[in-house]
Amino acid sequence: MKKIILLLFSLLVIFSSFGCGESKELSLYEIDAILNGNKLSCEMDFTYVNDSKKAVNELYFCLYPNAFRKDAKIKPVSVEKELKAYPNGESFGEITINGVKHGEKDLKFFIVGDDENILKVELDRVVSYNESHKISISYDLTIPNCLHRFGYGDNTLNLSNFYPVLCEEYNGKIYFSNYYAFGDPFYTSVADYKVSLTVPSTYIVASSMSPCETEWMGNKTRYSYSRENVRDVAFILSEKFNILKERVNSTDIYYYYFSDIAPESSLKTIVNSFKFYSDKFIKYPYPQYVVCEADFIHGGMEYPCLAIVDKSVKVEEKDYVLAHETAHQWWYGLVGANQSEEGFIDEGLAEFSTLLYLENASGESREKEIETVKQRYREIRKFTVHLQSGKNAIMQRNLGSFSSEAEYVSIAYYRSQIAFNDLSKFLGEKKTYKFLKGLSTNYKYKNITYNELRSFAEKIKSGSKKLLDGYVLGETAV
Ligand SMILES: [Zn+2]
Repeated sequence: MKKIILLLFSLLVIFSSFGCGESKELSLYEIDAILNGNKLSCEMDFTYVNDSKKAVNELYFCLYPNAFRKDAKIKPVSVEKELKAYPNGESFGEITINGVKHGEKDLKFFIVGDDENILKVELDRVVSYNESHKISISYDLTIPNCLHRFGYGDNTLNLSNFYPVLCEEYNGKIYFSNYYAFGDPFYTSVADYKVSLTVPSTYIVASSMSPCETEWMGNKTRYSYSRENVRDVAFILSEKFNILKERVNSTDIYYYYFSDIAPESSLKTIVNSFKFYSDKFIKYPYPQYVVCEADFIHGGMEYPCLAIVDKSVKVEEKDYVLAHETAHQWWYGLVGANQSEEGFIDEGLAEFSTLLYLENASGESREKEIETVKQRYREIRKFTVHLQSGKNAIMQRNLGSFSSEAEYVSIAYYRSQIAFNDLSKFLGEKKTYKFLKGLSTNYKYKNITYNELRSFAEKIKSGSKKLLDGYVLGETAV
């Protein structure tokens, strides 16, 4: 372990083994963003690679920042969390699309979706299977004073979901995600990224990408990054970050912090859980993994090669949160899913993986923890079962169908964790790891559906499908 003084220089020497090269197979996002106060001006070139096997003449993009606009129909923050999320009172953000072009030609575009959350672009030609097509989107962002994925607080500016994200196909149709006050409304395919970000030089930037180039321009600094084969990219900016680093295998692990009173201990948990998962699941393929403290309302949040941890997470809960977010590098980062419809897949697998890690680290059986989880689950169910959506315990359903965050947590986290633990008891230890390693190997860089997951489990041991269905379809009592 090596402590790093606040020197950004050290980051400059990190060159990704993924380099700055261009992929020929995946769609490519090239974003040039300039930060001025809480405004971000962006130019994005998007090279679309059609892998849908259907000819395409229009593209759809999720506009997540519009969830934060003044007249949003679906609020991104629940009433219970408003005070924490908006420490200085109401604040709004949004994305404004200035224009979409193909070369010099203007393309027609429309803001559609349930809540002005989708950009529809009419292309000027048909793009067939395996063909690519490049368009340019010019847009501006207003970042709200909100402790959220897209927002800023006193310590950090969180820049995730800051670009139009291509909508993917789900069950044969282009899927539009709505942004709710709980759950992660994301469903993306892996792509290649090249991003230039110009920010005030006082900022230290934590990123899911390796910097390729840095240019100082007095009070502004322009960082150029690239990363291939990732589901999305994000940046966390702060003037207060301290940095710890440790190398594990061929990955540099960084911990950016500003208020953690035991940062070495946090880094140890990050490193140990990372080693455990990398050993038990597929080996981590990226050269860098960054965890950083942030002004945030939801405990933690995962991105490929990056995780954030709410600075106000209690000391006694920190190890669990760090191990959970690190597990998401496999269950979300590498193996994706439609989190708006099947959020229990990545959350349940991350929760179950955390239990496995903690059991291994402490030497104490995970069954005691599972009993506590069952108690929590039953208590939440007692209070939500009278609500319309709380009547059933079906796990595979849209985020918008949950009556509250508590109900969502009880299903996507607790019930799913209990289900995977039960599956593990049925499989036995050896086959449990065969299942997890196989899943992460076979679905690396892909999205998995529940149907595929249960079929994969069935191949490991006959009867797994029935066991999982019992939980997912809401029939098995807990
Ligand atoms: Zn999670």
